[in-house]
Amino acid sequence: MKIAFFDTKSYWKDSFAPMAEKYGYEITFFNERLTPATAHLAAGHDATCSFVNDEVPAEVIRELKDLGIKVLLLRCAGFDSVDLAVAKECGLPVLRVPAYSPQSVAEQGAALLMAINRKCHLSYQRTTKFNFDIAGLTGIALYGKTAGIIGTGKIGQCMIDILKGFGMNIIAYDAFPNPNLGLEYVTLDELYARSDVISIHCPLMPATRHMVDKDAFAKMKDGVIFINVARGGLVDSEALADAVESGKVRGVGMDVCEVEHEYFFEDRSNLEKHDPTLARLLANEKVLISGHQAFLTEEALEQMAKVTLDNAKAFLAGEELVNEVK
Ligand code: NAD
Repeated sequence: MKIAFFDTKSYWKDSFAPMAEKYGYEITFFNERLTPATAHLAAGHDATCSFVNDEVPAEVIRELKDLGIKVLLLRCAGFDSVDLAVAKECGLPVLRVPAYSPQSVAEQGAALLMAINRKCHLSYQRTTKFNFDIAGLTGIALYGKTAGIIGTGKIGQCMIDILKGFGMNIIAYDAFPNPNLGLEYVTLDELYARSDVISIHCPLMPATRHMVDKDAFAKMKDGVIFINVARGGLVDSEALADAVESGKVRGVGMDVCEVEHEYFFEDRSNLEKHDPTLARLLANEKVLISGHQAFLTEEALEQMAKVTLDNAKAFLAGEELVNEVK
């Protein structure tokens, strides 16, 4: 199998190249993201392998089909980048990695929560300049506070386990509550009204786009801490920036953002003009943004490579495609 691998970075090559050799697959590593402008690079390959910020809309899928691509491999869990209806119409299975290390993703959410609450980013800025003044760095104790978890799937459950370890009380909202988890499920409105910390872990779909909007922030407690390691599009960024600037929100930790396609995984410090809303968020010290790195652990990378190549193997063997997105 020949795989056209898009949006290559050193950490991807390190995890995929040795494993592909073992499977006997040939990977061409392209630095380019998969977009309508770069889809032609897939010519001569059997599969594409894309990540979260590659673009796989209808026109790309049709072009890939014409080029002879037989299967679309995603080395991630989220599939919001792909037009699934058109992939189906073209007969191209979309195979993903549904769980590579949900603990790693939740741990990044916890890291952002701890850092923004205890202002680690600000103390780092000071102490590296030999400034050990701690004025202005007051946080809150998480012990005994209430965390509202939106989306109690694999990652949400890991986040709950971590936050329980801090002694937090957990309430949850999910469109499909899981009665086996023994959680206190509440309505979204109640979650907003009661939570000191809110962490969102549901997929981005048309139904969830901007589910956290101006009205949602208005319903939250004053001084709430908001964490998003799921997808930027779940949150209306303008409303978020307003909530931060008005003082409604105590802190925000995000590993994702709405315009990340234009920024993430690259050094964009040289751009002359920046997205105004992202710039507003980054300029505020109550906001800590990491660049979609929640997956970036040795364990997760190895699992992503293994499951992606196992998916390719099952496709080639005509076996059941357990990780197909339907
Ligand atoms: P999952 O499928 O195990 O869980 C998702 C949960 O969301 C499910 O319980 C589902 O019922 C719930 N849900 C669906 N629609 C909902 C709605 N309208 N309102 C509330 N809940 C709803 O997925 P997961 O593995 O926990 O991953 C969650 C998301 O995290 C993924 O979709 C992906 O976008 C994101 N993610 C981010 C990173 C990262 O590196 N930052 C890595 C992996 C996954």
